[in-house]
This record gives sequence, C-alpha cells and structure tokens, in this order.
Amino acid sequence: MSLYYLKQYCIMKKAKRYIIKNILLRFEREIMKILKKFDIVIIIVLLLLSFIPYGAIMIFNINGNSNGVYAKITVNGEEYKIVRLDTHSGVEEFNVKTSKGYNTIKLEDEKIAIVDADCNDKVCERVGYIYKVGQTAVCLPHKLIIEITGEVKETEEEDFIAR
Ligand SMILES: [Zn+2]
Repeated sequence: MSLYYLKQYCIMKKAKRYIIKNILLRFEREIMKILKKFDIVIIIVLLLLSFIPYGAIMIFNINGNSNGVYAKITVNGEEYKIVRLDTHSGVEEFNVKTSKGYNTIKLEDEKIAIVDADCNDKVCERVGYIYKVGQTAVCLPHKLIIEITGEVKETEEEDFIAR
C-alpha cells in the first residue's frame, strides 16, 4: 500500500510541476501579450509626441506668442493701448492725456519710454527705455503704467491671424 501512495505522490508532484509550469507559461504569454499591446501604445504615444512640437510651434505662430513683445499701456487700471515692440522700427511719439495730466511716450525701434510728463515727481521720465518682458515704467501721480509683456489679447490674436 505504501508503494501505491508513493506512486500517487510522485504523480501528484509531477502534476503539480506540470500545472505550475503551465501556469507560468500562460503567465509569460499573457505578459508578452500585454507587452506587445504596450509596444503598440508606446509606438502610438511616440508618434503623437513627435507631432506635438510641430503642432505647438504652429499654435504659437498663429498666436504671435513665440517671439512677440508688447508694451501694454494702462491708465487708471484701464487698458489704453497695446503696441507691438519686437517688430517696431523707427521713432514714434504720442501723448497720453490722463485726468491728472499728460505723459509723452516715445517708441524707438523695439524700446519704449516716457520722455515727458507734467507730473510732480518725474519718476516716470527717469526710468528711461524699457524693452524686456517684465519691465515696467510707472507714473504714479497719473496712474499710468507701461508694462512689457509677451502676452497677446484675444482681439490682437484675431488681428494676427487676419494678417
Ligand atoms: Zn510721472
């Protein structure tokens, strides 16, 4: 009887091994299938990624944001005028009349400055030319701000598409 059990035991062991082997094989196959699916996903993602820089550049060009530099003039918190600086050439001068007085603003090529004002502190005149994104020229008594920005307003965007 004990021999019979031993045989049975051996068969069981073999069967166990066989089952485990099979499970492992199946598992491996499943993993391979998943990996193959992943391969396809990765290829698709890479393909999509390869298009993104191109698409992004195109969108930026439409918006004029890629290298656009603008001077935003605000008086009393309200937008007065936006001038594109990076494509500007020559000399241009204009007066901004506020309720407290005037500021003469001068555009020279890609730079902008307040060159004259009838404010009491004349701080705005001393700022001189500004042209880098983030720079500001402020006339506190007149509540006038010139801000250099790389952003474009939606109405301006439409303008650029039309051009
Ligand atoms: Zn001033």
